[in-house]
Amino acid sequence: MVGALPAETEILVIGAGLGGVGAAAKLLHAGHESVVVLEAGDRIGGVWRVNQYPNVACDTPIDLYAYKFFPGDTWSTNFAPGTEIQAYFERVAKQFGVTPRIRFNTRVSSAVWSEQTGRWLVTSTDGRQWSARYVVWAGGLFSQPLLAVTKGVETFTGLSVHSTEWHEGIDLEGKRVAVSGDGPVYTHWPDTMESFGVRIASEGMQGVRFNRQKVPA
Ligand SMILES: Cc1cc2nc3c(=O)[nH]c(=O)nc-3n(C[C@H](O)[C@H](O)[C@H](O)COP(=O)(O)OP(=O)(O)OC[C@H]3O[C@@H](n4cnc5c(N)ncnc54)[C@H](O)[C@@H]3O)c2cc1C
Repeated sequence: MVGALPAETEILVIGAGLGGVGAAAKLLHAGHESVVVLEAGDRIGGVWRVNQYPNVACDTPIDLYAYKFFPGDTWSTNFAPGTEIQAYFERVAKQFGVTPRIRFNTRVSSAVWSEQTGRWLVTSTDGRQWSARYVVWAGGLFSQPLLAVTKGVETFTGLSVHSTEWHEGIDLEGKRVAVSGDGPVYTHWPDTMESFGVRIASEGMQGVRFNRQKVPA
């Protein structure tokens, strides 16, 4: 046993975001009882756990984003806010019996296949080990911040924060704000800035504003 979970398991899932929670839920539902999930963070949710900035939301209509096997029925809009999505994943994990099978604060550092035993030897950064017949990688792409390497950034003395590091104590009111990056998160920022009364000077940024109509789900 490692903690309360067996160190020998049939299936080991790495990551407890949309991919990992969904995979574990379906496996358990299909009758596979021997499932362990290892999660680097202290909660499930993946990108929705780490992105807590104002106006974080789904850009895909939520009926397409939610699992087909558990559509959810409490969405306030078609482009559900991050808090609702986070709560949804927690509900799914609880309902399908995934939660007790997750070991949190456990980052996998290697997974080595042995031809001899026909099993994976999975090691975490704190030196613990698991043996598994099958490994499901669900570590995602976007939960680890990639900090932009911008010339001169090291001399910037103001507040500099990645979207995954946002916290309630941050107040943009009266500030001059520069946003770096142009992925989906960027389209949330015009609304976020305006919620702090920050005037948007960039036409480009106005142009990417996400049209999140408040359509009942
Ligand atoms: C703000 C934001 C909005 C988005 N909106 C949409 C959208 O509207 N529609 C859409 O289709 N996609 C959207 N995405 C993309 C999003 O990445 C996917 O929709 C989906 O949530 C990814 O789920 P995942 O489980 O693959 O990965 P993640 O959510 O990244 O979860 C991976 C988990 O694995 C854990 N992990 C990683 N490495 C290890 C390790 N070595 N050991 C243990 N645990 C590990 C992480 O801590 C994390 O909890 C959005 C992304 C962001 C950031």
